[in-house]
This record gives sequence, C-alpha cells and structure tokens, in this order.
Amino acid sequence: MARPRGWQDTPVEFTGIRGQVWRAVVQPESVTVGLVAGDTAALLVDTGTSPAQGAELRAAAARVTDRPLRHVVVTHHHWDHADGLPAFNDSETIAHESSGLPVTTALSSIAVRDLGGLTVEIAHFGPAHTQGDLIVAVPAAGVIFAGDLVETSGPPQFDETSDLDGWVKSLDSLYALLKPTTLVVPGHGDVADAWDVGHQRAGLAAIWGQAEWAFYQGIAERDVYTHDNLQWPWDETTATTAIALAYQELERRPKPKTQLPLL
Ligand SMILES: [Zn+2]
Repeated sequence: MARPRGWQDTPVEFTGIRGQVWRAVVQPESVTVGLVAGDTAALLVDTGTSPAQGAELRAAAARVTDRPLRHVVVTHHHWDHADGLPAFNDSETIAHESSGLPVTTALSSIAVRDLGGLTVEIAHFGPAHTQGDLIVAVPAAGVIFAGDLVETSGPPQFDETSDLDGWVKSLDSLYALLKPTTLVVPGHGDVADAWDVGHQRAGLAAIWGQAEWAFYQGIAERDVYTHDNLQWPWDETTATTAIALAYQELERRPKPKTQLPLL
C-alpha cells in the first residue's frame, strides 16, 4: 500500500496568475511564492522554508520560464518566506533593511527593477505584520504580491514585531494602489481582490479602534475582550493577541502633559 503523501513529497509547481506572473504554494505553511518574468530576467517573491525548498523552487521556476533568475525579493523575515534564501546566492536578494536577513540589497522604502519590457516595483509602507514588510507590484499585469500583509486562508498573524496601528495604515497604502481589476496575492491563501484587502483592513481597524477607545476610558486590558458593547472580528485568540499588541503600542505613547511647561 502506497505511503500517504506527506508535504515533503508534494512537488513544487508554479501556476499562472496573469501574463508572465505565476505563483506556487509550498508546505508545510501553505505559503505563496511568486514568479515574474520579463524579456531578459525573472524575479522571485519569497524563497520557501529551507534551502532545499529554495532549490526546488529554482527548478520549478526554470520549468515555466527560461529567463535567468536575477532578483529575489523576501517580503519579510518569517522562516516560511525567508529560509530558502541560501539557494539564491547568485541572484540579487532584496529585503527590508530592518529584516536582519543576509541579502545583497537592504531596502529602506522603494525600488524598481526592469526585467526587460516589464517593470516590477517593490515598496515598504511602514511597520505592519512585521517591522519590514515589502510588497511587490507588477503594474503591467495588474498583480500585487502582498506578503503577509494580507491573508485569505485564516486570520492575520501577529508576533512581537507586529504593529497593529501601522498595519491598518499599510493596508490603506496598499488599498490606494488597487484598481477594480488588480489581483492581490496573499502570503497565505487564494488570490484576493480589493474586497478582501478591505475586509482585512476593516477587521484590523475594528480591533485597533476599539482597543484604543477602551484604553482611553481606562479599561484594563484583561477586561477589554469581554466588555459589553464591543464586538471583535475573527476568533478569540486573534482578537486578544491583537488587543494586547494594541495596548503595548498605546502604553508607549507619550502621556498627556498636565503641567507647564508644555514643551
Ligand atoms: Zn509572516
């Protein structure tokens, strides 16, 4: 009897999104990896979970385009997006300067790469899912790779480097780029559109706004989730994690001045 297929046996394959833009979904975290090809070069978005998976992605990319893989963008430092990096030592590797990743180009805010007749734009909107999220836009194809700024397979994920208020603002920046036909490729989950981005922005903004309101009413963090008249998106774990994050951000704010001199 054949052994059931585990994730390590699952072949890595790119499937077309639009034009010369593809995506692959790699395990065990079902993370999206993007591929873009112009006339002279190709660019990869994220690297998989290990050097071995990075090598698999290289081989899979070579099956759909013969353009040399000149650029690799890592959307953020989380292992499922970044740990394949060593497989790409002969490409330009790009990450945000705050990511701490060993890359050839540490980006502060914005960059553009010409793949030969096809331009790719890379941008950082500020702290959000992590301190150093990058998005990758392919304007001619109407496709944006959003990394984990957007997830459609589950609720947004937070860690100690997340910035809830900044995440809402970053999604405002992303939303401003969208046209009715733009496809948004999340870090995890199916290809999304403006409604999905708006949905996630609304959920994060609801947590941030309600937590901020509760904070300024002097409500203790432990009482916020169960407080009357407040409603929370997603599940309890997601909401309470985000509320804790919001309270940490709010407690770092300068306290109101009640005495002179004001400055
Ligand atoms: Zn992540």
